Amino acid sequence: MSGLLKSFLIPLLHNTIYIITKNNKSKNKAFKKRKIKNKKHYSNAIAVLECSYLNIYSSNPVKYLSAMKFGAHVSIAGGIDEAPLRAHGLGCECFQIFSRSPRGGKPAELNDRIIESFLSECAKYNIAEYYIHTPYYINLCSEKKILRDSSIAIIKEELERGSALGAKYIMTHLGSSRETNRKQAVKMIIEGLKRIVDNTGFSTQLLLENTAGQGTTIGNSFEELAEILEGVRDSNIGICIDTAHLFASGYDIRTKEKFKETICLLSSTIGIKKIKLFHGNDSKVDLGEKKDRHEHIGKGKIGTRGFKNIIKSRDFRNINMIVETPPEKVGDDIKALKNLRDK
Ligand SMILES: [Zn+2]
Ligand SMILES: [Zn+2]
Repeated sequence: MSGLLKSFLIPLLHNTIYIITKNNKSKNKAFKKRKIKNKKHYSNAIAVLECSYLNIYSSNPVKYLSAMKFGAHVSIAGGIDEAPLRAHGLGCECFQIFSRSPRGGKPAELNDRIIESFLSECAKYNIAEYYIHTPYYINLCSEKKILRDSSIAIIKEELERGSALGAKYIMTHLGSSRETNRKQAVKMIIEGLKRIVDNTGFSTQLLLENTAGQGTTIGNSFEELAEILEGVRDSNIGICIDTAHLFASGYDIRTKEKFKETICLLSSTIGIKKIKLFHGNDSKVDLGEKKDRHEHIGKGKIGTRGFKNIIKSRDFRNINMIVETPPEKVGDDIKALKNLRDK
């Protein structure tokens, strides 16, 4: 929102924001009052107000059909070219893998034979999109330079491997700042990401994943992720939103109204266009509990309604969703998500 509009609103509204929302039945604009309690609440209200305007002018009566595809994180046991069949068996329309052990060690070699076999398996099962998750030990804001450097090298290597395999995205966690303060940690992450994307011609796009806000992990708030994206100034870096992490960080999506507020905050900080992928996980922990505990779709604290809000949203109809829940019932999760989309 422009500074001019802001300075006009503040004296005019005297601590009350009038939010204009569209009433679909009567086609009239309805006015809602919101009391401003503090500075954060004020900026949230401004974001919602801004989005409400956008919604009025861009709303369209046509019901959008979602083209969202669903998939799961699958194992590469036996070789990377075993993953497409495994994904197909679970009902995946897209899938995600680790291209190397998530806990450490050298990656398996990617030669022409393996790449060809992988690509032909993907074609056989009609899977056009697949993604790679970087290992868990990545820490771009470790106090130890050697760990920061090796994290940078591994992300670069994964971008290279992803490009060789034709993966659309790789997503990475940013790290945690146990020994340093957050400001310093964010600075280190920006520097690291700059080194990763500098002069590289990878076809695979790098996505940063939001965290649950557990401990001292960086990247749970939209503001923090936006600050990092702005700092790197590389238009090719996107964001992967994990729904369980989102919810545990305090962003509610369970009702239509709360979902809209969360998306408005997202659009006024990170920007909707930066969202490239979802990790679709329900949450064992409640709103804002800041713990990373995945639950099967519809069985956790988010519930079916929250997922329906995302899947039926016009903003995300071309964004795909990967399930990262315990393997034995992943097939059921994919079925549940497809049901929400196709009903
Ligand atoms: Zn992740
Ligand atoms: Zn998680």
